[in-house]
Amino acid sequence: MSRVFNFSAGPGALPEPVLRQAAEEMLDWRGSGMSVMEMSHRGKEFVSIAAEAEADLRAILSVPDNYKVLFLQGGASGMFAGVPMNLLRGRARADYVNTGSWSKKAIAEAGKFCDVNVAAASPEGVLTIPPRDTWKLSDDAAYLHYCPNETISGVEFHWVPEVAAPLVADMSSTILSRPIDVSKFGLIYAGAQKNVGPAGVTLVIVRDDLIGEALPGTPTVWDFKVQADAGSMSNTPPTYAWYVAGLVFKWIREQGGLDAMAERNRRKVETLYRAIDASDFYSNPVDPDCRSWMNVPFVLADSSLDKTFLAEARDAGLVTLAGHRSVGGMRASLYNAMPQEGVDRLVEFMADFERRNG
Ligand SMILES: *Cc1c(COP(=O)(O)O)cnc(C)c1O
Repeated sequence: MSRVFNFSAGPGALPEPVLRQAAEEMLDWRGSGMSVMEMSHRGKEFVSIAAEAEADLRAILSVPDNYKVLFLQGGASGMFAGVPMNLLRGRARADYVNTGSWSKKAIAEAGKFCDVNVAAASPEGVLTIPPRDTWKLSDDAAYLHYCPNETISGVEFHWVPEVAAPLVADMSSTILSRPIDVSKFGLIYAGAQKNVGPAGVTLVIVRDDLIGEALPGTPTVWDFKVQADAGSMSNTPPTYAWYVAGLVFKWIREQGGLDAMAERNRRKVETLYRAIDASDFYSNPVDPDCRSWMNVPFVLADSSLDKTFLAEARDAGLVTLAGHRSVGGMRASLYNAMPQEGVDRLVEFMADFERRNG
């Protein structure tokens, strides 16, 4: 068996100790005689797995007591609808900030449920974040939605917007990469498959006064109040993905929590940006003030070398480096599970490739 360094943007790499533990427990979870996949979600074994995962996540993120933590299905894309369905609370309008592809998708979906005011937008083709003092907020917005890290373009907020309306964040590709102050947010959601666990579970962290007034017609499984009251088990939850996410939370705690993750992530990303910036052969198109810690797009000065670069990287055990199909070039995703060694190997490979082709 030989494992590669996997720079996939999602589903992304998982920590090897987590995969090993899941493998060890595959056939017989701790003397239960069965796999977690085979357990009743209402049995005491799975209920304990679920509760421990939630407790660990609450501890890692210091989630205040007046927030519910939900483990739902439907992905972040499902929540593009779930957010307006739950948070409009009788209002007709919501504010959205558009900083890239995922923001745009969230805006399009919200438009099915309410009047969307795009309070600010990055200029087309410019990878930056419009300054807060240029945002045109509405007086009657039910909430303000933004995407703290645009996974495709690698544009990340390194600040939390201050607004009067409840703040809603699609943290799919940045949650757990560093500490955050949950109390600044009304709702945080994240598909798990970037930095949390396997695809299939979607985290929602929501302040409890914001739920309980879902739009008529909201599917019961996406009514956050119903799910909060049912411990996310109004229907069968994604049990196995929930369990593996729980193993990831334990792993993060063992590594020293989010301060330790932030330290490691900062070092990794500095290694890569430094290598890109030091060369004329590679470049990163993002405004330096909003460069992502998690998704680093870069292009070769001569794009005709892209295919060779990717093939040779693959041979060197460095995989899934192609940029998103909508933008091309390269993208290295450096989620928590990517060790410093993987980034060091990538940077060495890039220097060697440049020597041979530059
Ligand atoms: C991947 C991603 C999504 C879509 O997630 P799904 O789980 O596939 O619906 C939405 N927003 C961001 C920021 C993402 O990175």
